[in-house]
Amino acid sequence: MSKLNYAIGVDLGGTNLVAGLVSSAGRVVFNRKLKTEANKGRKVAVGNIEKAIQLVLDGCTPEQKKGLKGIGIGAPGLVDHRKGIVRNPPNLKGWNEVHLAKIMSGKFKLPAYVGNDANVYALGEHTFGAGKGADCMVCITLGTGMGGGLILNNQLYVGSFQTAGELGHVIIDSKGKRCNCGNFGCVERYVGNSYIVERALEKIKQGRKTTVVKIAGGLDKITPKALSEAANSGDKLAREVWKETGAYAGAALSSIINTLGPRVVVIGGGVSRAGRLILDPIKAEVKKRVFKYLAQRVKIVLGTLGDDAAVLGSASLVWHHLK
Ligand SMILES: [Zn+2]
Repeated sequence: MSKLNYAIGVDLGGTNLVAGLVSSAGRVVFNRKLKTEANKGRKVAVGNIEKAIQLVLDGCTPEQKKGLKGIGIGAPGLVDHRKGIVRNPPNLKGWNEVHLAKIMSGKFKLPAYVGNDANVYALGEHTFGAGKGADCMVCITLGTGMGGGLILNNQLYVGSFQTAGELGHVIIDSKGKRCNCGNFGCVERYVGNSYIVERALEKIKQGRKTTVVKIAGGLDKITPKALSEAANSGDKLAREVWKETGAYAGAALSSIINTLGPRVVVIGGGVSRAGRLILDPIKAEVKKRVFKYLAQRVKIVLGTLGDDAAVLGSASLVWHHLK
């Protein structure tokens, strides 16, 4: 058995910050959680990242410390992977341009890397999870929005300007609803958390019967989670909402699959906790739309890394750069 080595993975969110020690076997050995305190400004937030990393270092055994290969950070928004710069993350106000990799490698004397959170998720599933061994892999994360990550020829693909993988803004209806990005008919506008709920509410307004209001504890408390529960207990309206959501995501994925010809498509993010409720209609739509030869071969699966995905993915940046 080859000797284990380690990396520190940091999941930087607008509210919470998790840093974990990850082994090369793909296990989070332990992690430390802090508040990002993004509202207190850039200095405080960067200081908290340093604090979280220091807490992980303090928890390492001497052997783990010796085997440490570097630090990987997953951050929201536009990230310059090559230079390790985070640019204007939407939920970290006042960041403008932060040379996060440089700051962390200077402070801890370890190689440090930064990646966009959805890209990093894809890298994690490729290194340790559902996409392991796939030469080409497409990954989407379903949550507030729809993120994306591409692994092409075993490499994270970021494009000429390090912006690639914005799969949530694939257009599925050129005259469709207006997306947050300003464009019309982006798939994110149909499969994001609040839009799933919006569709359920529209159906309820039409006078349809459903158990989801009771499950959620009120009309204004409906969530994708409540819709999952309702659908699993046979609620027709909720089942319909999931079917439509999967069909929208599947339509966007069909274009992407026809373009890239991936071996595996991995579905992750909070909304993917709906499991087969979302996976089955995605598969059905892809089967209908993608060239048959390809449709018979591409595997569409749920991510397998669960709650540790972000920390594992961030840490996997380190091994990806070692290659
Ligand atoms: Zn958009």
